[in-house]
Amino acid sequence: MQALRVIRVAVPVPLHGTFDYQVAPEASPTIGARVQVRFGRRPLVGVIVAVDVDSQVAIDRLKPVIAVLDDQALLDDAVLKLLRWTARYYHHPLGETIATALPAALRRTRSEQDTNRNRGWQASAEPPTEAEAALSRAPRQRELLAVLRDADHPIAHSTLLARFPAAQKPLKTLAERGLIEAVELPGGLETGSAGQAPELTEDQHTVIERLRTAEGFAPALIEGVTGSGKTEIYFQRMADVLAAGRQILFLAPEIGLTPQLIDRLRSRFAAAIGVLHSQRSDGERADVWKAAAAGEADIVVGTRSAVFTPMPRLGLIVVDEEHDGSYKQGDGLRYHARDVALKRAQATACPILLGSATPALETLHNARAGRFAYQRLARRATGAALPQIKLIDIRSRPLDGGLSDPLISRIRPHLEAGNQVMIFINRRGFAPALACHDCGWIAPCERCDAPMTVHGGGRRLICHHCGANADAPAACAACGAANLVSLGAGTQRVAGALRSHFPDVSIARFDRDSMARKGRLEAQLADVASGTTQLMVGTQMLAKGHDFARLTCVGVLDVDGGLFSADFRATEHMAQVVTQVAGRAGRADRPGEVWLQTRNPEHPMLTRLLSGGYPGFAEAALAEREATALPPFGYLALLRAEAHEAQYPHDFLAAAADTIPIDGELACWGPVPAPMARRAGRYRAHLLLHAARRSLLHPVLDRWQYQLAELPGARRVRWSIDVDPQDLI
Ligand code: ADP
Ligand code: ZN
Ligand code: ZN
Repeated sequence: MQALRVIRVAVPVPLHGTFDYQVAPEASPTIGARVQVRFGRRPLVGVIVAVDVDSQVAIDRLKPVIAVLDDQALLDDAVLKLLRWTARYYHHPLGETIATALPAALRRTRSEQDTNRNRGWQASAEPPTEAEAALSRAPRQRELLAVLRDADHPIAHSTLLARFPAAQKPLKTLAERGLIEAVELPGGLETGSAGQAPELTEDQHTVIERLRTAEGFAPALIEGVTGSGKTEIYFQRMADVLAAGRQILFLAPEIGLTPQLIDRLRSRFAAAIGVLHSQRSDGERADVWKAAAAGEADIVVGTRSAVFTPMPRLGLIVVDEEHDGSYKQGDGLRYHARDVALKRAQATACPILLGSATPALETLHNARAGRFAYQRLARRATGAALPQIKLIDIRSRPLDGGLSDPLISRIRPHLEAGNQVMIFINRRGFAPALACHDCGWIAPCERCDAPMTVHGGGRRLICHHCGANADAPAACAACGAANLVSLGAGTQRVAGALRSHFPDVSIARFDRDSMARKGRLEAQLADVASGTTQLMVGTQMLAKGHDFARLTCVGVLDVDGGLFSADFRATEHMAQVVTQVAGRAGRADRPGEVWLQTRNPEHPMLTRLLSGGYPGFAEAALAEREATALPPFGYLALLRAEAHEAQYPHDFLAAAADTIPIDGELACWGPVPAPMARRAGRYRAHLLLHAARRSLLHPVLDRWQYQLAELPGARRVRWSIDVDPQDLI
């Protein structure tokens, strides 16, 4: 009889360290394969990180593995190494770090069997003629057929359903009529078709030639105004890399919101493309992931967590809109996908392109310091002029649904000329608060230190922080007066006010509430593209990657919030969002106009943005960060704690602060209550570590990850470490 073997497993539990198990010799365990094991009482899926280890525990006292789930490694060496680095850098348990990287279906013991998930459709090459005539009274079928013919390649069944929720039946009928055919797609991948590249502009040409000279690990920042042709530059480099037989990892923020990017990829590269984002089913994501790991996918395009996809032939990483906040995960493993991508490119010795019209100050700093190649594109590829940005001083002006009179009169001529107008306001709902006109009482959330947001035209109250909701009260809870008013404006109220000013214009609202239904975003974007919709009102969602051909005027209603926030990154975010929404405006024959409503027209950061554009703003903002030693001129880590009793987080954080050797270069600020001191019924506080050099910070965190759990009071709070925090709220 052969002896039992010992394997070391990373198990998804909130404990540091890995755990040893015994396994029968015939199970042939491999590093990187998944195993089902029992941890405590629970069966969990872990990943083997070492085999035949010298365990501290006698082998017959180790628990046996329940099952080895993969006969080959699911995570290759390169990705396992990346995950180890990520776990170390963010001070998060390895088992949970690996679980974050795995698609959900692979985290379960048995992946669900979905027979439909690889099915796709394509237009028939020789459709029966009489069948077409039958479509005259079937608009849905006609539309789907047009989409499939247009595509020139098969489209996954699930993609069609995501775009057209009622497509199930018409697809079936189309197939019965012989107009379309079902095809089996290779494991979640789609094949794009080769498309023509435009003739490059001189600027693009220069940048691409420079990028081509780089070898090995070569990070580059491409700072280009919106429409300058950054995407075209990525595509040129991608073509080089594909021709060399290597794979490409393309990261984009929230691609579910920007179907245009994926369409462009599909109609450009005759390559196997895998798409990874949250609107795909678990099964599909697992398929794409496995196809990438097997080297079958040429291009993987995905959101944040796609950065961990195994790709044995990886030759290039692209991080589009690298400044976007969605690259940082806000809970659990708080990693930043751009930074992990940089580490990955370094380990792979491959180039990485970071692109943005509004680079993060960290990235700009790295580029200026010479750590990244720095390429700039100041003109639009199509020759269209950049929009003019101007202020509207709204001090002592009445606002109607958030809109000032001057703004209304600026909008009017654009609409009358048949052009499109976009109004941006970073607040969904009807109004940010319900107040008593007599005594000033504001309807609070019972569980958060925040007012309730007014929805449904004033009838409902919803808390945007904990989700609590209630009918709006009829009278003030403090003085009893029935004189309640909605304060300020959100997207719903703005849309209502615009409707009363422009009753004949078709208006569409873009925010999380209006997009809750599947397929709605695509439908609305199609109406914008066709010109049916002339006026768009929306949140951040409108700032992302959309191309609006007839947009000539943009109004931004609330820049002031970004000027006076507890969060030191707020001005940077304000400047980014203003520049991004402004970038949607303007055409070749007519430059766009952008109007910002403000009560602070002399604020230096605002005037700087207007006179110098984002580059001018960034210079001033970097100088300010340097003067205050904030990132990228200092390094931060945040220890958060929360509990139902206000005292517990404070005591725990004070004890944590006591473990830190303070000197001139390492400071510990706090404990202080978080800017929102109570959320969902929990009291929240934090402790901020500030270091002049990163190397000072990490030894403290290394010790902390073991010490904190032992501190008195640790069990009474929920705590977490956030390295390079993006959000101090
Ligand atoms: P960015 O990614 O910088 O916003 P895109 O690559 O999306 O810019 O280009 C903006 C627009 O300009 C797109 O409609 C694109 O098709 C077009 N475009 C890009 N490069 C060229 C070029 N060399 N010649 C003509 N049009 C171009
Ligand atoms: Zn009152
Ligand atoms: Zn709440």
